[in-house]
Amino acid sequence: MTNEIEIANPTRTRAIMETYGLDFKKSLGQNFLTDINILHHIVSTAEVSADDDVIEVGPGIGALTEQIAKEAHQVMALEIDERLIPVLEETLSPYSNVTVLNQDVLKADLSKLISENFDGKHHIKLVANLPYYITTPIIMHLLESDIKFDSIVVMMQKEVAERLTAQPKTKEYGSLSIAVQYYTNAEIAFIVPKTVFVPQPKIDSAVVKLIPQKRDKAPINEKQFMNVVKGCFAHRRKNLWNNLQGMYGKKKEIKEALERVLKQVEIDKKVRPEELTINDFIDLANALIEFD
Ligand code: SAM
Repeated sequence: MTNEIEIANPTRTRAIMETYGLDFKKSLGQNFLTDINILHHIVSTAEVSADDDVIEVGPGIGALTEQIAKEAHQVMALEIDERLIPVLEETLSPYSNVTVLNQDVLKADLSKLISENFDGKHHIKLVANLPYYITTPIIMHLLESDIKFDSIVVMMQKEVAERLTAQPKTKEYGSLSIAVQYYTNAEIAFIVPKTVFVPQPKIDSAVVKLIPQKRDKAPINEKQFMNVVKGCFAHRRKNLWNNLQGMYGKKKEIKEALERVLKQVEIDKKVRPEELTINDFIDLANALIEFD
């Protein structure tokens, strides 16, 4: 199934918006992709095939949806902007395997939508050019859901991608890197220049591939683990000891208890938070559970 002219080119993108009398809503992160090679590269990075049912967040006018639909078994695309629904009905009309829903991904019951729209016999993948103003909430919403994603391939601002995939002892490494890498193996697949979007954003983007993974080590309580991580990175320039006192207080008995915990998990109190691995943080959080 192919269109004579792909949706993804700058002239057609502007023409479609003009035909429907629409402007690009900055508040909804509407920067549309107009380069067919980049779209192919996103779909091939996700290794989308007829074995896959794919969720797309924010189809826009359907440029990426079209390329996913050519490879996937089924596509379910969630678009918050109701003005774009009639546009998508037209641009995606050649593709009978696409369902477009006027939904906010952060409020949608994704498990229910999956059972209503997919047959349960295919891998579930998520592929998206994310709206940048809510990149992190969307990713955390997906990772904290019960959905068994085969992979999540998402485009975002390059800086955010660097934080998501950062390794210990780098300046980008922080609570976001740990939150994402606790659930997934995360890597930057490729960089996308700002020139391929209409309208053009101020900064370059990157496509990140997240493969959900099971960890050998588990926190006793995930919420408490994430709180410990956030607390330890509250003041990046302070060492672990000072951040822990910031979280739990400076009373003599607290300090003594914290010293016992650090000894137990064999972590030096002078280390900086960015020197600790995810497993170090899991050990630390588990040992701090009595403080909650
Ligand atoms: N997929 C298209 C492309 O690549 O050209 C458009 C991507 S654009 C960066 C982000 C899209 O997400 C916009 O169409 C925007 O309206 C939509 N969007 C923004 N917030 C959303 C939300 N909470 N739920 C679903 N879609 C959303």
